[in-house]
Amino acid sequence: MRYALISDIHSNLTALKVVIDSLKDDEIDAYICCGDIVGYGPWPNECVQVIRNLQETSSLFVVVGNHDWAALELEDITKFNEDAREAVIWTKSQLSEENKEYIKELPYLVKEDKFTIVHGSPRDPLDEYVLGVSIFKSNLKYFENNLCFIGHTHVPLYFFSGGEVDVGGGPIVDDVTITLDDSMRYMVNIGSVGQPRDNDPRACFGIFDDEKKEVMIKRLPYNIKKVQDKMKEYNLPVFLIERLQMGV
Ligand code: ZN
Repeated sequence: MRYALISDIHSNLTALKVVIDSLKDDEIDAYICCGDIVGYGPWPNECVQVIRNLQETSSLFVVVGNHDWAALELEDITKFNEDAREAVIWTKSQLSEENKEYIKELPYLVKEDKFTIVHGSPRDPLDEYVLGVSIFKSNLKYFENNLCFIGHTHVPLYFFSGGEVDVGGGPIVDDVTITLDDSMRYMVNIGSVGQPRDNDPRACFGIFDDEKKEVMIKRLPYNIKKVQDKMKEYNLPVFLIERLQMGV
């Protein structure tokens, strides 16, 4: 099976469409989405609709993110910074009841035979940021299989455990293919489609091929200005508009 990997779309329909279109010729059998479909960007309903369409037309494994949860008022937004809070309140005012219902039903964690998916971490699915090997290591006992896909930091990274070095990992820059060893365990942060924060503003996504045992992380440019113009129309916070072109 070939799985498309997407996460942290953040209501950025322009980036999401570029990614989904590019996957059309890629013989994708199923989609994996690690949450944060909404928050920050200008098209919350449209992005939820794309995800719902994927669920209807192909196989989809999806979990909820902290911004999705926040838009339903189920997450404490006092811990969000001011810009994020403003965007959450705006997102909530825009989301249709039907889309809110859809988000409300999303699970925190999905465990399949070959992978686990969560937004933050297996230990704390909504909120924990897996920033380094020590946090990865302490999360190993919270998932069972050899591969866990995460999002949340908006920075593509991978961690591994087993073999001679015990634990290791690091950032994923540009297009990279990770070959999985059956005797090791992995956690792969698949980066962000709609608001990358690794100084590379291009949309980030991936493909997992369970027969070749490969995870590929890819980058694609999209029309950032189009998104920024739409955000200006809705008076969304200036920093959220500017950060898109910087990839921060
Ligand atoms: Zn996010």
